Amino acid sequence: MRRAFRSTLLHCLADPGEHDDVAAWQCIDDGILLVEDGRVAAIGAAGAMLPQLQSGVDVEDLRGNIIVPGFIDCHVHFSQLDIIASYGEQLLDWLNRYAYPEETRFASREHAQRVAHAFIDELLGNGTTTALVFATVHEHSADAIFEAAAARRMRLIAGKVLMDANCPEALRDDPQTGYEQSRQLIERWHGKDRLGYAITPRFALTSSEAQLAAAGQLASEYPDVWVHTHLAENTDEVDAIAAQFPWSNSYLGVYERFGLVRERAVFAHCLHLVEGERRCMTKHGAAAAFCPSSNLFLGSGLFDLRAIRDAGVRTGLGTDVGGGTSLSLLHTMSDAYKMLHLQDQALPPMRALYLATLGAAEALYLDDRIGNFAPGKEADFVVLDPAGSSITKRRSEAAATIAEIMFALMMLGDDRNVHSTYLEGKRV
Ligand SMILES: [Zn+2]
Repeated sequence: MRRAFRSTLLHCLADPGEHDDVAAWQCIDDGILLVEDGRVAAIGAAGAMLPQLQSGVDVEDLRGNIIVPGFIDCHVHFSQLDIIASYGEQLLDWLNRYAYPEETRFASREHAQRVAHAFIDELLGNGTTTALVFATVHEHSADAIFEAAAARRMRLIAGKVLMDANCPEALRDDPQTGYEQSRQLIERWHGKDRLGYAITPRFALTSSEAQLAAAGQLASEYPDVWVHTHLAENTDEVDAIAAQFPWSNSYLGVYERFGLVRERAVFAHCLHLVEGERRCMTKHGAAAAFCPSSNLFLGSGLFDLRAIRDAGVRTGLGTDVGGGTSLSLLHTMSDAYKMLHLQDQALPPMRALYLATLGAAEALYLDDRIGNFAPGKEADFVVLDPAGSSITKRRSEAAATIAEIMFALMMLGDDRNVHSTYLEGKRV
C-alpha cells in the first residue's frame, strides 16, 4: 500500500546545535513524502517525484502546511492529566498536595482506563506520536495506558511506578510486589505492537535500597527495557537524597550503584548536577529529559543544555505534565527557548525541532525507527498549519524563511496549529 503526501517537508538529520548548522536539517518547499506499508519509502521534490509515481498512488495534497516528524515526549505522567495547572508549591509539597491524592484515584481500573484514553487523545491532538510515560503504582494503570496506545497503534513506552518509602500508604508497593508486577507487565507488553516497558522508580527518595536493588535486578534480567525516573529536579530534593543516601557522593551515584544508569535509561530534569554526573550519564549511554515548562512552573531551576550536550548526553524534550502546563511540544519549545535565553544560550528553531524529534528518538534509542524521514523509518508525522490561529497566520505571512515560520510556531503555536497527526501513514 503506497500513499504520498504533498507539502513542505521539514526534518532534522543531526543536532543543528546553538549556531544552527544548516547541514543538520532539510527543508523541501514543495515536497513529496512517499509512504509504503506504514514506512517512509522516499522523500523528494514534487517536481521530480510526481512524474515517477505509479498511477494509482494516492497523493494527498496538504500544501500550505509543514509536515514534520511526529513529536516525541520524553517525560510525562498520564495520571496527572487532571491536576495540570494546580496552583503554587514546589516539587515535594506539590507531590503531597496534588499528585499523590490524584494518583490514589487510580486504584480504580475504570478511572485509569478513562484517563488513559483521554490522555492518548490529547497527545495525538498535539502532534505527539511517541511518549515515555509514568503510570501510577497500580499495576492496572500501566495496563490501561498500554491498552489505550495499542488501540491507536501508537508507539509508547510506559511503566508502573515503584514506590515503597516516603509516600502515602495507599500508594506504596514493596520490593517484592513491585518487582513481580513489573516483571509481569514486561512479559505482557514489552515488544508487543509498538509498545515498550520502562522500569519506573519514581525517584530515589521514594524507594528503599531494597527496592532500588530489585529494580536493578529487573534491569539486568531485561537489558532491552527502558529505565525511567527523575534526577536532581529541586534543591530540597537533592538535599533529602544526600541525607537518605549518605554513602553516595552524588544523586546519580545512587542510581548507578543499583545498575540503573545505562543505555535506555532516561532521567527527567537533571537540573542540579554536580561535577562528573553528566560524564557518568554519557559513559553509560543514559539520557536526559529536558522539561522546561515544568521546571519553570514548579520553580525548580534552569536546565543547562550547553553543558549537557557538550558532555555528550543524549537529550530530548519532555512536557512533564502535570508539573508542565501543556502537552504541546510547541509550547515546551517556547519555554525551552526562554529558559536558555536566561542563561545566554541560544535555541534556534531547528534545534528545538531536533530536541522534540530526532534528539528525543536518540535519547530513547529509537532513532533507527522514528525521529525523521529517512527511508525505512515508521511514517509517524504531524501536519503543522501556520494559519491555525489568527496570530500565527499573521506572523507566518510576514515571515521570509522556514526558520522564521518555525520559530513563530514554537513561540505562538499550540494544538490549533496541528492540522492532523499520522501514525504509520494513517491519519488519526
Ligand atoms: Zn515527572
